[in-house]
Amino acid sequence: MSIKRLALFGGEPEFNRPLHVGTPNIGDTKRFLSRVETLLNRRLLTNRGPLVRELEQRVAELLNVKHCVTMSNGTAALEIATRALGFKGNAIVPALTFVATAHALEWQRVRPIFADIAPRTHHLDPRGIERLATSLTSGVIPVNLWGRTADIDAVTRRAANRGLAVVFDSSHAFGCTYKGKPVGGFGNAEVFSFHATKFVNTFEGGAVTTNDDALAERMRLMQNFGFVDRDTVIHVGINGKMNELEAAMGLTSLEAMDDFIAHNHANYCAYLEGVEDIDGLKLVEYDNSERNNYQYVVLEVDERATGLHRDPLMQALHSEGVDARRYFYPGCHRMEPYQSRPKPKGQDLTLTEAALSRVVTLPTGTAVTPGDIRRIVLLLQELLEHPADVVQRLAKQPHRATLSSV
Ligand SMILES: *Cc1c(COP(=O)(O)O)cnc(C)c1O
Repeated sequence: MSIKRLALFGGEPEFNRPLHVGTPNIGDTKRFLSRVETLLNRRLLTNRGPLVRELEQRVAELLNVKHCVTMSNGTAALEIATRALGFKGNAIVPALTFVATAHALEWQRVRPIFADIAPRTHHLDPRGIERLATSLTSGVIPVNLWGRTADIDAVTRRAANRGLAVVFDSSHAFGCTYKGKPVGGFGNAEVFSFHATKFVNTFEGGAVTTNDDALAERMRLMQNFGFVDRDTVIHVGINGKMNELEAAMGLTSLEAMDDFIAHNHANYCAYLEGVEDIDGLKLVEYDNSERNNYQYVVLEVDERATGLHRDPLMQALHSEGVDARRYFYPGCHRMEPYQSRPKPKGQDLTLTEAALSRVVTLPTGTAVTPGDIRRIVLLLQELLEHPADVVQRLAKQPHRATLSSV
């Protein structure tokens, strides 16, 4: 490939149809439509209909957990789970996560305290729990980021030492295992998101899973206005319900889950094979002894070795129609209202900051093929052969952030 072929230097973009991170996986359209027809004929659209019940049962079986309570979305699931567990004062969360992890607490006036990640992993450093916990701390939300699990044993032990409740944000880790056991039954509860961009989706939706009977019952009340029967309300509650249409998508998505994982894995392998020999590029790796969903392909760019920082590399990819994303830049601690607050005592986010300046998430999912990925890898090779030219070129043209706004 010659440098002239690159879009930055006057060539045609490699992809005329942009490749995104998180284009929804659909599954069997016919199965979905037939479920939709059934639910329309039944005229039962929501309020814990048969499809929602079936989805809850299948998820609970799959994750080997007693209860699955579906929710309107992952954020509501986080809010309801932490509220039902009595989170108050403040709670410890990693700064390297989607902002909903922090907002779900703040929305209930529980202040998120941001903890750093452990060296090498991108996960909450378990030692941060004891370092940051105060008399006001009530819980921890570790995040099973990128589908890799946090050090669940260490997190749980250290939280228990301090008497803290633990809710895992497992939005990325549906279908994954920790020490051979499915994610879903750890801590006091685990939260999943089935947002359209997650690899198993219900358009919008989420769930909380738990082995705690009383907690499950409380969450069911809280997500349905506190109704225990037709006219009896015994608890304060909101509307956090998933509807039948969403459950129809969820069931269809679950049936195709193994195919989605196989596809994601093939994509991941194509990236791995491609970047293995490129100096300064490294994919976030997975533990092959666990089950992984490979829904994110996360690349770390070491500028010292590549001569090109993550940002110009990402911008150059954008110009080629590769909509790479720097999740979860700039970090929750650099977003409002958290950014304007005084730093809590003992907060040090050095490793989080380092990761946030290096990582870029690449397109995968069923809308992207291993063939597409081989073309992306060729682009990466070409771009990294001319780091200085790329930087110079980008300086002359403003970044066109036209690919997507979310
Ligand atoms: C997607 C996501 C959420 C929020 O889920 P929604 O269903 O979009 O509300 C929370 N935490 C993490 C880590 C996520 O990736």
